[in-house]
Amino acid sequence: MSVQLDSYLEGTWQTGEGDPVALVNPTTDATVATIRPIRRSLAQSVTWARSVGGETLRAMSFAERGKLLSAMAKTIHGAREELIDVAIQNGGNTRGDAKFDIDGATAVLAHYAYLAKELGEHPWIVADQPVEVFRGSKIRAEHVLVPRHGLAVHINAFNFPAWGMMGKAAVSILAGMPVLSKPATSTAWLAHRMFQLLVEAELVPKGAFSLLMGSAGDLLDHVGAQDVIAFTGSQGVGVKIKTHPAVIAKGARVNLEADSLNAVVIGPDVEEGSELFDLVIRDLSVELTQKAGQKCTATRRVLVPAASLEAVRGALFDRLDRIQIGDPADQANRMGPLTSKSQLEDARAGVATLAADAEIVRGDPQRSEGFAGVEAGQGCFLEPIVLQASAAAARNPAAAFHRHEVFGPVCTLLPYDGAIDQAAEIIGLGQGSLVSTVYSDDREWLAKAIAELGPHLGRLVLANEKFAGASLSPGCVFPVANHGGPGRAGGGEELGGLHGLSLYMQRVAIQGGASQLARLLGK
Ligand code: NAP
Repeated sequence: MSVQLDSYLEGTWQTGEGDPVALVNPTTDATVATIRPIRRSLAQSVTWARSVGGETLRAMSFAERGKLLSAMAKTIHGAREELIDVAIQNGGNTRGDAKFDIDGATAVLAHYAYLAKELGEHPWIVADQPVEVFRGSKIRAEHVLVPRHGLAVHINAFNFPAWGMMGKAAVSILAGMPVLSKPATSTAWLAHRMFQLLVEAELVPKGAFSLLMGSAGDLLDHVGAQDVIAFTGSQGVGVKIKTHPAVIAKGARVNLEADSLNAVVIGPDVEEGSELFDLVIRDLSVELTQKAGQKCTATRRVLVPAASLEAVRGALFDRLDRIQIGDPADQANRMGPLTSKSQLEDARAGVATLAADAEIVRGDPQRSEGFAGVEAGQGCFLEPIVLQASAAAARNPAAAFHRHEVFGPVCTLLPYDGAIDQAAEIIGLGQGSLVSTVYSDDREWLAKAIAELGPHLGRLVLANEKFAGASLSPGCVFPVANHGGPGRAGGGEELGGLHGLSLYMQRVAIQGGASQLARLLGK
């Protein structure tokens, strides 16, 4: 049975006028839901959300908004099993993959609910200490953050329909900006069901949260100077959004979270048989197979000291061979399909592109049978593919693995000489990434990694033998830490605790007498 997914605009459920678009189960190829995209102008819906939702949220204190987020988290958590089932059907997620997304959504809502407690009763946040405008002056300057009087337009990618939507919404709502969320169409059922649960629980204050199903229509034509667009998706669409004439003309604030050729670096001191070596292999396997490699943070390039290449490759293949791929509804299967036929086609074409500069050493991109519980040719399955480049190709800026993101279970092993300088050179060829992990016990090497790799990254995970048992693979994004990366990763910054609120707030320097500032700003 297929459900119709309507938009929620101007406080009501609304059906679009466009031809129905089918959302498909990527395991069975069956249609599970349809969307009729809105074809009429979105001008009125945008204006209504901006003014009504803005007033509603700004009338609430930070603490009240925090309570709202907390209630949202509880409602979503309460429907966890139902939501997992939706993610399995529409996203091809294994149960573990679905939990990663849905629990991630709950966690980020709960985290920002918690942070609300320290934000006080004023409608602003004091961002720093007062400073003399010049030495000996009685006049001070102090920065405050106030919610922008616009609409937060959230355009999300298909791979995290739950976390993507709620991660952005949590920060925006706490900051005091109303949200209009547009999930990616192919996997939108999960986002829609979560939103529906919030409406049913009366957790959508008037205008504070709207939902646009299907394509964006003329949404961006109506952005204004106080609006914020937070986009997650491919670099190509990100550039279109950033350069949209209305976005440029109005000076709307834009945050892009785009694709990323994340690279991990195995230190020259990591020995086969050590706990750290085992962690490397576990992390590589997780990043290749979790969500079938459809994570912006997944590892695409693996820098391996040339001397360790054989050992790493052998151990990785052993581990991958133990992962059963098949129908994600069966918990014995640890990896499911890609989310759609077009993703499968893109990934296969992408592997062919990478293969111009590296050799496929594991996996057959054309394999379409032998997946557990699935008929031959059915679904969108791609087994994990590992490629390997030569040391010369690894340093070639034109090599495809430095330029092309294959959004699936695909990575390339790149030999390097073990020095951080060369690792930084190779990582930099990816033109900016979200995250990297460096594996080593050599403190000097790690310190150099922070200085040399840092400029290319949004997040750097340090993994050593002592913490190997507690270490988390690079693909786990936590609300306390920055998410985003320079260059091709979009240049955006999201989450990162309270810092994340600044995307939705205006930083204003308040200049005045020292005692006056202290009285007004509540010190
Ligand atoms: P996508 O094709 O770029 O689509 C992303 C979103 O943009 C979707 O909601 C899509 O809507 C919408 N969109 C497409 N064209 C648009 C336009 N002209 N105007 C306004 N919106 C438009 O990306 P995707 O295939 O969903 O996601 C995969 C990509 O996202 C990968 O490259 C991955 O690396 C990246 N990603 C990045 C992060 C990060 O945090 N950096 C996180 C997750 C994913 P429709 O679905 O309706 O077309």
